[in-house]
Amino acid sequence: MNLTMKMSLAAFACLVCVGANAQEKKYPEQERMRPGMSEYWTPQPKVVTPGDIKTNTAPSDAIVLFDGKDLSAWEGAKGGPAEWDVHDGVFTVNKKKGDILTKQSFENFQLHIEWCVPENITGTSQGRGNSGVFLQDMYEIQILDCYNNETYVNGQTGSVYKQTPPLANAMRKPGEWNVYDIIYTAPVFKEDGTYRVPPRVTVIQNGVVLQNNTTILGTTEYIGFPKVKKHGAGKIRLQSHGDPSEPISFRNIWIREM
Ligand code: MG
Repeated sequence: MNLTMKMSLAAFACLVCVGANAQEKKYPEQERMRPGMSEYWTPQPKVVTPGDIKTNTAPSDAIVLFDGKDLSAWEGAKGGPAEWDVHDGVFTVNKKKGDILTKQSFENFQLHIEWCVPENITGTSQGRGNSGVFLQDMYEIQILDCYNNETYVNGQTGSVYKQTPPLANAMRKPGEWNVYDIIYTAPVFKEDGTYRVPPRVTVIQNGVVLQNNTTILGTTEYIGFPKVKKHGAGKIRLQSHGDPSEPISFRNIWIREM
């Protein structure tokens, strides 16, 4: 056997060897799925005792911001105590005293807040029961008497003020209580101060969705377009609007941090 023959033989043997290996190699068969393979048990969600709708109590893990007694969870926006008028288990805006803010700051939350436009309300458009809930003291969800009262749609009840109109007008009549449930996801900022993830909000009024996970574009300016301003945890602000109409009232306010 000369050298060429020997080399050819070796190459053939090697090919056979590779072919044999490719055929013989076995991988494990995929295990048959059983129901338990896609079920997990921990961590268990915390147990929350729901509030009682009849007695207006908050869920057991909520921070109560107003339970009908006092404004100790709030402060004046200009400093000092919150000086709106507490009476009959509710409180009423005192327009001479300016806005009020929670003492505590929040990140992501679920906020429950009830508000009532007085039965004898007067005024039109934005000058009729105007107030507002500012999320993280930056972004206003409008409060306004929009019962038979037209205004610019991105300024009506449940709008992200001057940005996104509500999906519906779910107002109760003046003299009846309106309920807001607001679910808010705080923004995440880049180092340059712009949004990496913008803030988002869901607003439900009287069981009707007004904002469905809406992206907030920036601050809710009265004049001009939204501004993006870097911020951290923030307070809830209630607006004392300068319109001349009769002041609105609030009750049963609680917040759950998420
Ligand atoms: Mg307002």
